[in-house]
Amino acid sequence: MDYRLDDSLVLPAGRGWAVKMKAGQRLKLTNPHGTQAVDFWAFAERDIYEFTSMDHFRSFHSTIHVTKDTPVVSTKRRPLASIVEDTSSGKHDTLLCPCNAALYRQLGAEGHHRSCADNLHEGLAELGINLPFTPASVNLFMCVAVRADGSLDRLLPASAPGSYVVIEAEDNIVMAFSCCPQDITPINGEDRTPRDCLIDIYSPIREAA
Ligand SMILES: [Zn+2]
Repeated sequence: MDYRLDDSLVLPAGRGWAVKMKAGQRLKLTNPHGTQAVDFWAFAERDIYEFTSMDHFRSFHSTIHVTKDTPVVSTKRRPLASIVEDTSSGKHDTLLCPCNAALYRQLGAEGHHRSCADNLHEGLAELGINLPFTPASVNLFMCVAVRADGSLDRLLPASAPGSYVVIEAEDNIVMAFSCCPQDITPINGEDRTPRDCLIDIYSPIREAA
């Protein structure tokens, strides 16, 4: 299958974005510095209440990491999106929640601090979608390991600069992304600096019969 490039854009540091994707379309997410975590969600276009579910994902695949071999399933255990190419460290987290206002308050942030939860809802609102809750996200490029005693180890980002994932829509879906604005803990690198990522969207070129 050949693909044509439809669109390219910058996902600015600390910001979010959502886009409608047809089944078979692909989105390439590039991490120019390799250090940026990007929260990702997908929603069935015909039913926004069917969305990528981390608890169903872990149960379905018996793993805590999203890889090329593990399509991200929905609340109805249907694949909504799959990583089809991956040059990153290749273990995308499903355990930690999207950052949110309460988390930043607990971390001592004063006043409003941007969050992945806010970014999701802002991105959906631009498509006219109002979701009254925040589903758990696939935390792309985020490194979290489970120790033998069951505790979690938040590791520094381990992807090389320029690493990318290509995500294919398995159905007509809305994809949403948040370039994580976390600048208090080192989940986006030791220097705690959120950075831009890049998005390219591709459509399959179907031969005429
Ligand atoms: Zn975040």
